[in-house]
Amino acid sequence: MDFQLNAEQHMWQEAVHDFCQTELKPRAARTDAEAKLPLDVIKKMAPLGLLALPVAEADGGPGLDTISAAIAIEEIGRACGSTALSVAAHNGLCVSPLVAFGSTEQKAKYLPALMSGNTLGALALTEPGAGSDLAGGVQTTAVDEGDAWVINGSKAWITNPSLAPLIITLCRTDRAAGTHGFSLIIVETNRPGLTISPPEKKMGLKGSPTHMLTFDHVHVPCENLLGEAGQGLQQTLSTLDGGRIGIGAMAVGLAQAALDEAIRYAKERQTFGQPIAQHQAIQHMLADMSTEIEAARLLVYRAAWVKDQRANFGKEAAMAKLFASEAAERAAFKAIQIHGGYGYSAEFPVERIYRDQRLLTIGEGTSEILRTVIARRVLGASPT
Ligand SMILES: Cc1cc2nc3c(=O)[nH]c(=O)nc-3n(C[C@H](O)[C@H](O)[C@H](O)COP(=O)(O)OP(=O)(O)OC[C@H]3O[C@@H](n4cnc5c(N)ncnc54)[C@H](O)[C@@H]3O)c2cc1C
Repeated sequence: MDFQLNAEQHMWQEAVHDFCQTELKPRAARTDAEAKLPLDVIKKMAPLGLLALPVAEADGGPGLDTISAAIAIEEIGRACGSTALSVAAHNGLCVSPLVAFGSTEQKAKYLPALMSGNTLGALALTEPGAGSDLAGGVQTTAVDEGDAWVINGSKAWITNPSLAPLIITLCRTDRAAGTHGFSLIIVETNRPGLTISPPEKKMGLKGSPTHMLTFDHVHVPCENLLGEAGQGLQQTLSTLDGGRIGIGAMAVGLAQAALDEAIRYAKERQTFGQPIAQHQAIQHMLADMSTEIEAARLLVYRAAWVKDQRANFGKEAAMAKLFASEAAERAAFKAIQIHGGYGYSAEFPVERIYRDQRLLTIGEGTSEILRTVIARRVLGASPT
């Protein structure tokens, strides 16, 4: 086994790290306070390839492996949670399914705008009455009227639609066909009948725009179907498997940021005549944070590696996202503890990191659902 990044991955990590620490990190507090993404910095991400992480060179992308893509999201998360969520959703939830299931024409039509830095993509699965249980709960319908799909329904908690040229939308296209009765349809955001509600007011990740959508007889041409009709749920589950590596990587980045801040503070703050870093209780917290972050990172990179082997990586991605998101929660908790009262103040980054990481055990599969996914795979693999 080789636990080292290869030379290309190492160079990529350094380049993304430097960009994020210089451009994003100094803006993170403002991004949160103003609840606005730093769109000028996102524009600068385009030439680096950060907005085309899953895109092959032949399609105008950087042609990265999945470990490099995870490294990018980790470094963005280490600098700014809000930007990491929007960029992770753009790459993992919109660009990825377009690359995986889109026709040559669809890729040529939509990828340039998505990779330009002027827009971010969105995927709309969740509805007011359906999150974990998409198969049972999705009510949004798309009816084939010959030359167009006509879409009616609503979606909730969707990342990026106000910045997106298109929203890939999960619709029921054949109620009688059960789990084969769903389709993913590309809906351009300028289609009449589509309403993007004002952004949700959230606990954290405030710069990342989250919206409710309503579709009132939205007509889109038949060629906007992504892949085959009836495959939408299967395409969604496979997209979420990949997205979970991204959210796991984001969790590692946020946890690492919490550790960075905790170490810095522990060396500065003095109590009882010495820096608090000299107290064993503080050292143990730093040791636990550091160990769990390393374990989380290894799980994320391993899931990415399994994906690149073109093997089934659903269990590995679920384990990586489950462990990394819960490790980020513990790391952010301890980082605040190490800061004492100052950790509770918005003046210190750990307060924002604590709020930002909280989403990660919920979005793209809650911890409970991920445990179910993993248990099913473990039980299925058991000889008895
Ligand atoms: C900031 C933010 C951004 C988001 N971005 C997007 C996006 O871009 N696109 C998108 O489609 N969605 C998005 N979501 C939605 C997110 O994916 C859902 O919130 C998530 O999947 C959980 O669904 P739910 O909120 O409906 O919770 P529910 O499914 O109602 O779950 C509620 C609780 O019940 C538990 N539960 C449910 N079923 C079971 C079960 N079988 N066994 C045990 N426990 C169970 C859950 O784990 C959870 O604890 C976003 C959400 C947020 C907050």
